[in-house]
Amino acid sequence: MTQQLQNAINKASKIKMTVKLLGSRSFLVITPKGHKYTVRFENVDGLRYGRCTCKAGAANMACYHLPKAAMVDTAIQSMRSH
Ligand SMILES: [Zn+2]
Repeated sequence: MTQQLQNAINKASKIKMTVKLLGSRSFLVITPKGHKYTVRFENVDGLRYGRCTCKAGAANMACYHLPKAAMVDTAIQSMRSH
């Protein structure tokens, strides 16, 4: 795990964001400042890939919206597999 990703995860756990399910694996992340970003996940060869619509995400950088949505995605996926 890269330091950049670790920092993003740390930030995600500290900041209270609202995550809403938009579609099968699409999430709307609302920051405390009211910014809204869409995060989408897909699985390629058993690995999960996420895409965020924020500036960092568009530049392929680890942002803190992604790990937040990933926690919800993980919870949903684990519910489905039971
Ligand atoms: Zn983002």
